[in-house]
Amino acid sequence: MVEQQLRARGVRDTAVLQAFNTVPRELFVPRPHRVYAYDDTPLPIPAGQTISQPYVVAHMLALLALRHSNRVLEVGTGSGYAAAVLSRIVAEVHTVERHQVLVDYARKRLMQLGYENVFVHHGDGTRGWPDAAPYNAIIVAAGGPGVPESLKEQLAVNGRLVIPVGPNPRQQRLILVKRTGETTYRQRELSPVAFVPLIGVEGWENA
Ligand code: SAM
Repeated sequence: MVEQQLRARGVRDTAVLQAFNTVPRELFVPRPHRVYAYDDTPLPIPAGQTISQPYVVAHMLALLALRHSNRVLEVGTGSGYAAAVLSRIVAEVHTVERHQVLVDYARKRLMQLGYENVFVHHGDGTRGWPDAAPYNAIIVAAGGPGVPESLKEQLAVNGRLVIPVGPNPRQQRLILVKRTGETTYRQRELSPVAFVPLIGVEGWENA
């Protein structure tokens, strides 16, 4: 997976590639789908959600230019896989999930596998997780109508935020935001992606 799907498609960040090499994706995938765990595709997880495509996650993590000492927020824990990968790259990971069933699913696996620097929280991640802010980086694993102000506020100066943003809940482009000062941000629009909807106060309404 790392050589053929990530490196071959242009992911060059060594820390990201090494982290993907060490985390067993099959243990985060529900048993009936485990045979597909190393295919470059999203797979179903409980609550009608998905574990994201490995290449897209690797690409997003590389955009964050992570350092070992960083504290990072992930919005959309899902299976806990991306949080586990992140935990091999940075010092501390906070991850927020709106479905309690997925909070339990991810917590159990992360604990069993010994990922002790990951903290799984239940809530609306469009509001971030203020208790542990500021974050050196924020990754949003679901697509919203815009960049939530709460997430921008919880970013440290020089911090980076990557989020899928689009005109409807199933079609987005990656947006990379850099906080350049106390009140200033720089924003770039990148490749098209297709994530599940980001549902919350600063996201889409629950249909
Ligand atoms: N990162 C996950 C993984 O490695 O398995 C995949 C995430 S999945 C593509 C997106 C997740 O975002 C879903 O589990 C969904 O419930 C969650 N989500 C959507 N809106 C949210 C919100 N406002 N706060 C927290 N989680 C949210």
